[in-house]
Amino acid sequence: MRVGIVGGGQLGMMLVEAGASLGVDCITLDPAADSPAARVGPAIQGTYDDPAALARLADGADVVTYEFENVPVDGVRDLEGRVPVLPPPAALEVAQDRLAEKALFTDVGLQVPAFAAVDDLDGLRAAVGSIGLPAVLKTRRFGYDGKGQAVLRHEELAEDAWRAVGEVPSILEAFVPFDRELSIVAVRAADGELRCYPLVENHHREGILRVSYAPAPALTDELQTAAEAHARAVGDRLGYVGVFAIELFQAGGTLLGNEMAPRVHNSGHWTIEGAETSQFENHLRAICGLPLGDVGVHGNVAMVNVIGQEPDAAAILAIPGAHLHSYGKQPRPGRKLGHVTLLADDPDALRERVLQVSRHLTDA
Ligand code: AMP
Repeated sequence: MRVGIVGGGQLGMMLVEAGASLGVDCITLDPAADSPAARVGPAIQGTYDDPAALARLADGADVVTYEFENVPVDGVRDLEGRVPVLPPPAALEVAQDRLAEKALFTDVGLQVPAFAAVDDLDGLRAAVGSIGLPAVLKTRRFGYDGKGQAVLRHEELAEDAWRAVGEVPSILEAFVPFDRELSIVAVRAADGELRCYPLVENHHREGILRVSYAPAPALTDELQTAAEAHARAVGDRLGYVGVFAIELFQAGGTLLGNEMAPRVHNSGHWTIEGAETSQFENHLRAICGLPLGDVGVHGNVAMVNVIGQEPDAAAILAIPGAHLHSYGKQPRPGRKLGHVTLLADDPDALRERVLQVSRHLTDA
């Protein structure tokens, strides 16, 4: 099998690596010559909307997929005539627009924070009136890692918030006093079979994921069952094939949908060492029509992101149960450069190991 991947970042890199041992040859497309995926497999250098580059990617591929959600939808739709594109581009369309995403969640019975569409400053003032404060203003499109967002606490700061997000179509969302942030990573096959990894607890700072715990501490069957039902409903509605993630807020016993990623997800990186089958392998299995892999977990697992600056690799690797993944990217403040997966026999040992890793991370 041969898979063309739009995007050559770290997610592409880990897909290529998973493909190698499965006998699935992957090729990536990325504007950068030195993309993380280019370190580990064949890569085409080109922009995501370059028809010639996309055609080269599709040439000889059995299926085309993508590793980030801001892929221009028209470009991949054009490929559909010659090669299957999975997940279906309709999933991209929904995930690229926070309004469409919220409409889908609501439609399938996943509650979301109160929200209103905002198209201009007057609209923002009206939304503040209906939603109340505090609230979060988020651009409808192209937001990631907390970018394109402003928390609004005082009505008189509405203009600042509107400027901060770039005066583009947005949504205003009620600020949720959640207990914790969770995500569910699921894989869906073409025949509708769905498998979910256990809910993961995620810790963010400055809008960037820092640490994930899998399974989420004190995870109950009720919560897992509820999250899986939401994942199933979203997957079925989109006719989804491949891995996707839904980010959730937990408030008491209630789960609220925040956003979905139509791709492998940072909160699923722990599955490489921590699960029977990694999210990367399962994504390839699903889009290649192969049987889905077991999603069982190896004990207590955590993932710590390496942000901004490379740590001393030897110091990290000296920590028991630690596995370092470096993406080979140039250091830059706020940039994800790698991650560390940690395994431990019990939750206390795991937390201690997370602290140990954190001490070696400069910008963590
Ligand atoms: P997002 O890009 O939507 O995932 O938002 C980035 C982070 O901002 C989330 O992981 C939360 O920590 C926080 N956040 C986003 N939306 C809300 C909200 N409605 N209420 C409280 N915190 C939020």
